[in-house]
Amino acid sequence: MSDMLPYGRQSISEEDVEAVAAVLRGDWLTTGPAVSAFEADLAAHTGGTPAVAVTSGTAALHVAYAAAGIGPGDEVVTTPMTFVATASAAALHGATVVFADVESDTGNLDPAAARAAVTDRTRVVAAVDYAGHPAELDELRGVAGTAGALLLEDAAHSVGSAWRGRPVGSLADLTTFSFFATKNLTTAEGGAVVSPSEELLARARAFRNHGLVRDRAAQRHPDEGGWHQEVHAFGLNYRLPDVLCALGSSQLRRLEGFKRRRAELHARYDKALADLDGVRTPVTREGADVLWHLYPLRVLDGRRRALYEHLRARDIGVQVNYLPAYWHPVFEDLGYRRGLCPNAERFYAEQLSLPLYPDLTDSEADRVIEAVRDFFGA
Ligand SMILES: *Cc1c(COP(=O)(O)O)cnc(C)c1O
Repeated sequence: MSDMLPYGRQSISEEDVEAVAAVLRGDWLTTGPAVSAFEADLAAHTGGTPAVAVTSGTAALHVAYAAAGIGPGDEVVTTPMTFVATASAAALHGATVVFADVESDTGNLDPAAARAAVTDRTRVVAAVDYAGHPAELDELRGVAGTAGALLLEDAAHSVGSAWRGRPVGSLADLTTFSFFATKNLTTAEGGAVVSPSEELLARARAFRNHGLVRDRAAQRHPDEGGWHQEVHAFGLNYRLPDVLCALGSSQLRRLEGFKRRRAELHARYDKALADLDGVRTPVTREGADVLWHLYPLRVLDGRRRALYEHLRARDIGVQVNYLPAYWHPVFEDLGYRRGLCPNAERFYAEQLSLPLYPDLTDSEADRVIEAVRDFFGA
């Protein structure tokens, strides 16, 4: 058995196991009381902004864009320094994705680049809180507002982070979370859409459940019978089941602990690697209170691939986050070309995520540090 350290992994406690088992022993497997309980628990971490639980972060993006009402002819301005779903979920609605460049320190969407990219067809400006570090959300809100567009925050990395004293989830018109196994908290697969707008929430809830209308007062044919429900707009089944919501509520009780441990490990890497000439450690901007999802090291002088291979050969599961989204052949085939966002491309060329997760021990982190220092002969 190799003891490969992954770049990220879940932390599951006995309480988490018990929470899931309790639902399995009960009456509800799918949509029952654990769903609304999880949504309420999540809202306690978003400054009270209501949440709609869905089956993944990708589903959350698809639902959020549906709630925003985007379609063919509409433009979505977003960052290429993200997992492809931020862009592909918009493309699946038929909208045109417009990539704007990132800031070279944080890797987050550059408000000036976003401002230059908006047109009168822009319906959504979609930022990503890369590695957990919030984007420049006040400026981006201004950019979106001026364009008459909504601000969407893909917070797949940043549940538990805050920006200028306000929690992630309270900053944008639509915020999306992912609860995939490697994220800040997990429901195995899962996600959520958060919004302060009752109208956007209603559209999100409808899209999550086939667009079905059960409220008789809202039905076109209310006299059909007691069984009747009807579809007013197309939707999908993106319902997160009770079993997984119970895990989510249990994980939320551990979120502060996860944040503390991730911060400790982050500081340990910073301290041990800051003096190396061949790398740059991550920056934290003033106003950012970060729950670090990733530790994004920057490897200089074209040596990222060599360091990746050096660490992988030592069973250290480093990862690269991310290939610029428009480098994926599906975007290439639509005419997007390399060179479009030079900062993002440079960021990608240098980026390497070191293992970071709550159950990583100090001595495992030190093993990573020694292997990195060894590579540089330090
Ligand atoms: C993980 C992730 C997603 C997709 O979430 P899933 O739950 O894996 O579908 C979207 N955007 C970003 C930035 C992510 O990191």
